[in-house]
Amino acid sequence: MTPSRSEIRVSGLHKSFGDNHVLRGIDLEIRQGEVVCVIGPSGSGKSTLLRCVNLLEEPTRGQVHVGGTELTDPDVDIDAVRRRIGMVFQQFNLFPHLTVTENLTLPQRRVLRRGKSEAAKAAAENLRRVGLAEKADAYPSSLSGGQQQRVAIARALAMGPEVMLFDEPTSALDPELVGDVLAVMRMLADEGMTMMVVTHEMTFAREVADRVVFMDGGVVVEDGTPSRSSATPATTAPATSSPASS
Ligand code: ADP
Ligand code: MG
Repeated sequence: MTPSRSEIRVSGLHKSFGDNHVLRGIDLEIRQGEVVCVIGPSGSGKSTLLRCVNLLEEPTRGQVHVGGTELTDPDVDIDAVRRRIGMVFQQFNLFPHLTVTENLTLPQRRVLRRGKSEAAKAAAENLRRVGLAEKADAYPSSLSGGQQQRVAIARALAMGPEVMLFDEPTSALDPELVGDVLAVMRMLADEGMTMMVVTHEMTFAREVADRVVFMDGGVVVEDGTPSRSSATPATTAPATSSPASS
């Protein structure tokens, strides 16, 4: 089998906020179609890492490549690169005064300059993908948290991203609503989407991820295949590797 190309490549990434040296030399590669779950204690830098991958934060040092383009190149067209990266947050960030369809069409029209009918078509298609076709004209406040998060995923998908980043997408949800959101993410994984997922959902990580990356103190302390037989994968001590010395 020919190895697929590298979709996300992070090398020697450091990020400081003032005196707070949060990311301390991250090296990470995610190949096309790979699903990588990122786990680790609160404050270990998981969100900061994701935010550096789509330049919501500017790295202090190091490189980030997405699809062969260096985001950290000062001459890069950041908006063009961001269009290739979908991001889903813990908070769904839907516009409350817009319908579900309008939430999906607005960024397509503003950012991609799509026409009305093309944007509406992509909206309908992606609402169907997440199982919410019948909510097209609903307002976010009438939806459950799980449905709102699926709308947020559909909104990101409607932009046609090459890569999807998820930052604890189910952490704000009531437990009974988590499964539907994970099912949509599982479908995306099965379809071959390249995904980087910060999550505490260990069953999802074990069953869906190709690799689980464990972060602590701003470094990757373990990066390996999830143990599908173990109840506590990737929380054990590193078996072979020590923190990357970069
Ligand atoms: P995690 O997602 O693993 O919980 P974060 O990446 O959110 O960790 O945070 C890691 C550290 O970076 C924390 O100490 C946090 O206070 C700090 N931090 C994150 N974002 C900012 C910011 N915009 N300004 C200042 N400090 C920040
Ligand atoms: Mg976080």
